Amino acid sequence: MNSKLKNRLALLLVGARDMMLLMSNKGNVPSAQPIFLCDAMLGSLARWLRFFGYDTLFPGTAPTDSELAEIAREEGRWLLTQDRELAGRGPRTVMLRATGLEDQLVEVFSRLGLRPEATLGKALCSECNGRLEEASKNEVQPAVPPHVLATATRFRRCSDCGRVYWRGSHSEKIVVRMNEVVARLAVDGQQR
Ligand SMILES: [Zn+2]
Repeated sequence: MNSKLKNRLALLLVGARDMMLLMSNKGNVPSAQPIFLCDAMLGSLARWLRFFGYDTLFPGTAPTDSELAEIAREEGRWLLTQDRELAGRGPRTVMLRATGLEDQLVEVFSRLGLRPEATLGKALCSECNGRLEEASKNEVQPAVPPHVLATATRFRRCSDCGRVYWRGSHSEKIVVRMNEVVARLAVDGQQR
C-alpha cells in the first residue's frame, strides 16, 4: 500500500472512531432519571430532590451503613452522603462536600451533569417520595384548611401517604429557591 493511501485510510479510520465515540456518548446519556438514597444526615436534601422530581429514598436513622449500601445497590440508587466511610461502601456514591442545602443541590446536580427545571410540575411527595395525583376540591376537603379551599383551585394528593399539596405562597417560595439553584447550575456550566 502506498503511503498516500495509507494516510487516507488512517484518516478514515480516525473519522469512523470519532463517529463511534460520538454515537456511544449519545447512547450513554441515561434516558431515565437517576434515583437517589440520602443518608440520615441529608433529610432536607431528600425533600428538595423530591421537589425537583427525583425519586429519593430517605430511610432515616434506622438502617446501618451496610444496609444503606445494600439498598442503593439493589435499587440502582445513587447514595448521597457526607460520610467518607459510608461513601466507600456504596456502589455509586456522591460524597458531598457542601453543607448548605442549596450548595448540596448544586453539587449533586453538577456532579451528575443534571439540568433540572425549576418547577414543581414533576414533584414527588416531599414527605414520603410517593407519586402525586390530581385531586378535586371535594376529595381533599377534609385535609385542607378552609381558607385554602376558598382560594386554591388545583390540588394534588400523594398516592401513598395522602398528603395534599396546593399552589400558594409556600410553593412559590420553593420555586424561587429552585430557580436560584438552576441559575447557579447555568453559571457553573458556562464557566466550564
Ligand atoms: Zn406522601
